[in-house]
Amino acid sequence: MQLIRRGDTGPAVAEVRGALNALGMLADAGSADPADALFDGRCELAVRQFQQCRGLSVDGIVGPDTYRAITEARWHLGDRLLHYSAGRPIIGDDIASLQERLLELGYDAGFADGVFGQRTEAALRQFQRDYGLVVDGQCGPTTFRALQRLGRKVVGGRPQILREAMAMAAAGPHLMDKRVVIDPGHGGDDPGVRAGGLTEAAVVWDLAARLEGRLAAHGVTPYLSRGPDVARTNAERAEMGNATGADMFLSLHVDGHPNPLASGIATYHYGTGSAVTSTIGEKLAGLVHRELVARTGMRDCRIHGKTWQLLRWTRMPTVWVDLGYLTNPEDRSRLADPAFRDIVADGVLVAIQRMYFPEELDPPTGSYRMPAGLDGQ
Ligand SMILES: [Zn+2]
Repeated sequence: MQLIRRGDTGPAVAEVRGALNALGMLADAGSADPADALFDGRCELAVRQFQQCRGLSVDGIVGPDTYRAITEARWHLGDRLLHYSAGRPIIGDDIASLQERLLELGYDAGFADGVFGQRTEAALRQFQRDYGLVVDGQCGPTTFRALQRLGRKVVGGRPQILREAMAMAAAGPHLMDKRVVIDPGHGGDDPGVRAGGLTEAAVVWDLAARLEGRLAAHGVTPYLSRGPDVARTNAERAEMGNATGADMFLSLHVDGHPNPLASGIATYHYGTGSAVTSTIGEKLAGLVHRELVARTGMRDCRIHGKTWQLLRWTRMPTVWVDLGYLTNPEDRSRLADPAFRDIVADGVLVAIQRMYFPEELDPPTGSYRMPAGLDGQ
């Protein structure tokens, strides 16, 4: 698609403005004639805000990733009839809400990825059968009301979480033969955050390479989601990760902020405000985060559950780390230091190992040293 950016006019801009307006991020009615719609400074600011809270690259430009996310975000459960369509699956935040609702109720709708697939349909049919509704596999007004009426009282077994926990327990404590996707953010013509002569894309690429070496030395098969100079959309990264069938997925980023005082590490896993959360993802996020905060002494910006596309679409426990602010002088000088990057890679490796330790063997945070790897290092 054509990029839509500041200064552009026309129907495509009108559509973006309309969507941002509907999301309450751009409070105006827009121009009456779509041909007159202008991508102005306020519109760019709203796009940036939207990108920030969706975990997209914050550049204020509407490219394919941002366009898809804006289109998906405008739907609320109940807005439209939802059903399975083999050729063109319906996608949107309303589907994710439906899936989360079904999961909360104990119906196996798979992962809440916001795509109405066959599994969503099967779960919906089961729900309709159990609650005496017309079994058509479609979420129309009657089914929607039934889902709402059940409120938050009825919460079932969340099969996805049980499956993840069982897979993890069955995997055993050894790292040998585990598979991990390392996802260095940005790349190619998308540098990510830029400050003081460093780019996010280059910093996280180097961290990924250090981590890759350590994992391989301990018998783990690492997969990198991109090459050193390649850009990929988050959807492509998730798809690539899913295709590997990996045990976990680690997305590496650094943050940036106009205020140079903003600093620290924040870690994200899949989760919503409601009961649905990937507890294995949450556990991995906790281990990675605490190891990194303990080992680096950087400010603790905590762990957060998010429904970002990458976290939603990956089918394994996925953790997204923002390793400090490139726009903060102190964080930046650390991130520039190869010795610091080694500490980060060591911390992540230990966190991955701790995922597989049974509780009684789990060492205190910041204390564990990996035994020598296969290469004796
Ligand atoms: Zn980033």
